[in-house]
Amino acid sequence: MLGAAKDLPMTETPVPRAGIDRIALYQGGESRLGGRSDVLKLSSNENPFGAPESARAAWADLAGELHRYPSAGHAGLRHAIAEVHDLNPDRIICGAGSDEVISFLCQAYGGEGTEVIHTEHGFSMYRISAMASGAVPVEVPEAERQVTVDCILDGITDRTRLVFLANPANPTGTMIGASEVSRLAEALPSRVLLVLDGAYAEYVEGFDGGATLVEARENVVMTRTFSKIYGLGGLRVGWGYGPAHVIDNLNRVRGPFNLSTVQLSAATAAVRDRNWAKRCFKENAACREWLSRSLAEVGVLSDPSSANFILARFRDQEEANACDAVFREDGILVRNVRGYKLPDCLRITVGSESDCRRVVESVRRFREIQR
Ligand SMILES: *Cc1c(COP(=O)(O)O)cnc(C)c1O
Repeated sequence: MLGAAKDLPMTETPVPRAGIDRIALYQGGESRLGGRSDVLKLSSNENPFGAPESARAAWADLAGELHRYPSAGHAGLRHAIAEVHDLNPDRIICGAGSDEVISFLCQAYGGEGTEVIHTEHGFSMYRISAMASGAVPVEVPEAERQVTVDCILDGITDRTRLVFLANPANPTGTMIGASEVSRLAEALPSRVLLVLDGAYAEYVEGFDGGATLVEARENVVMTRTFSKIYGLGGLRVGWGYGPAHVIDNLNRVRGPFNLSTVQLSAATAAVRDRNWAKRCFKENAACREWLSRSLAEVGVLSDPSSANFILARFRDQEEANACDAVFREDGILVRNVRGYKLPDCLRITVGSESDCRRVVESVRRFREIQR
């Protein structure tokens, strides 16, 4: 029988839908560095202060309830989000990270025969989720690491159904203004849904992530996450806010028990913990400013960032790689963004004050070595 399996025609193995094998696997931030115990992980934009005590306590309280099914309608969490952000709880949907909400959007509005627009340096999950739905992802240019509305509009065809726009953007950290976002929403054909990814909205003073525009229009959705300022990336909770008809469709593709009791309860505690969000906002703003200024002093420039990371720019890919190698020698993990068409850049999460000092020390050492 040796060799029998080899002789079987390929069609006898289960075959996935066309295009599934062309989806590039998501590249996450690295977390380990050859057995070192002092690794400083600045590769995934995690909160340097961890999760808030309020969320940890909510999580611990649920050990006796693990046999119970969670709420299928997420009413407790939706109402907490709605109260804090002054939104309508009926128009909120919760998912396992905003990644899951992005995937619901592609399943419900993408699919075979459609196109999904993302920008040149856009977050990689847009492309992955679009392709998983059977849609064709369409990349449109940015201008100097900044999204431009006209390039998006130029990319629209009869097949376009979704436009994904992170504001502030990852990995560039840049942002476009409210009037530009409104102009885009206004100019899109009415069958196209504009998705405003507000994963970093809490890092921008007074910014609503696009909620006001969602309220005013029938074709705009906002996504948000507990993974960044709330320090709950490992818990996997995100949410979306949109017109009633969109949220209704997303709920049809959502599994009823997509969030566990523990996820719902810890996220509810975190969103009500306003002091936590305020404190993390302040720390991030101060440390980000210090980090970008200190790096500029040693010749490493970055665009003004509106998020919890900066995109450090080098002369070329070779110099970026050389600096990355020195970071690694010093136990620091940052994100190379070659996969985002930014081979001469490194994305560095803004850590605590001492984390930032360690980064600057390491870059100074890199400059010394270069001489
Ligand atoms: C981190 C991030 C998210 C959040 O993903 P989760 O699934 O909520 O952890 C979404 N969009 C962008 C652009 C991000 O950088």
